[in-house]
Amino acid sequence: MSAIDTLPPLREVIRTHDLQARKSMGQNFLLDLNLTAKIARQAGDLSACDVLEIGPGPGGLTRGLLAEGARHVLAIEKDARCLPPLAEIADAYPGRLTVIEGDALKTDPLASLTPPVRVAANLPYNVGTELLVRWLTPPDWPPFWESLTLMFQREVAERIVAQPGGKAWGRLAILAQWRADARIVMQLPPEAFTPPPKVSSSVVHLQALPEPRYPANAAVLSRVVAAAFNQRRKMLRAALKGIAPDIEDRLNAAGIRPTDRAEQIPLEGFCALARIIEAP
Ligand code: SAM
Repeated sequence: MSAIDTLPPLREVIRTHDLQARKSMGQNFLLDLNLTAKIARQAGDLSACDVLEIGPGPGGLTRGLLAEGARHVLAIEKDARCLPPLAEIADAYPGRLTVIEGDALKTDPLASLTPPVRVAANLPYNVGTELLVRWLTPPDWPPFWESLTLMFQREVAERIVAQPGGKAWGRLAILAQWRADARIVMQLPPEAFTPPPKVSSSVVHLQALPEPRYPANAAVLSRVVAAAFNQRRKMLRAALKGIAPDIEDRLNAAGIRPTDRAEQIPLEGFCALARIIEAP
């Protein structure tokens, strides 16, 4: 399904509702409905899914998701100015769009979602990375979502799909690749947005794995990678000193040399280290 709806063009919606983009809300809108439909398609077949959309704004991606056949979209938006245009979309797709006004970082949407759930969002990057880390680190796996299709600044997207040994390898790559398959599926120039941001953007698609690639406790692994990459230039011995008193022995037991640097250690090594740190 790919019928663009009969609602007014987004530029007109923005004019009618006086929705000037606000920098404080990280607002860079997507107004080309062919482009938002293309992004929605990256989320896969949505006809049997509930879609959680964070930050719908004037509704460009929301319209894409609905036009592409999403069974139901639950959208969480912080800016109350966006509610009237979103209500018009809800009227055009009866029973298929629910909007919650609120801060996605403080709203628990789970009670309003029926599985299977896919997540799609074009969010300010700081909110996006914080939510991504939360979605990747619940204590139990699999999570409430099957996939995440998220817009990031290109540099952040590259950190999510990075491989060990390079500058981009770090907390985001390790947490993402531990429990999901992560790929960049689209690149967007600044001009795709209104107003254009300073940098290019990428859409990242993450597919949840049935189980993590290696066993580890999510909270411990998060703590280990946060500490390991906090002081990039130092050796692991120094970076992890506060995590466990006998860190040298624990690093050795995980097959890691205390003099190694964090960017040289593969995912498997960090998971082994998290297991050994958790051990009494
Ligand atoms: N999805 C729309 C689009 O693609 O045109 C808007 C994208 S704009 C980059 C980000 C949107 O997220 C804005 O509508 C903004 O108001 C909203 N937003 C920012 N912080 C938020 C938060 N903490 N919770 C929910 N929405 C938020």
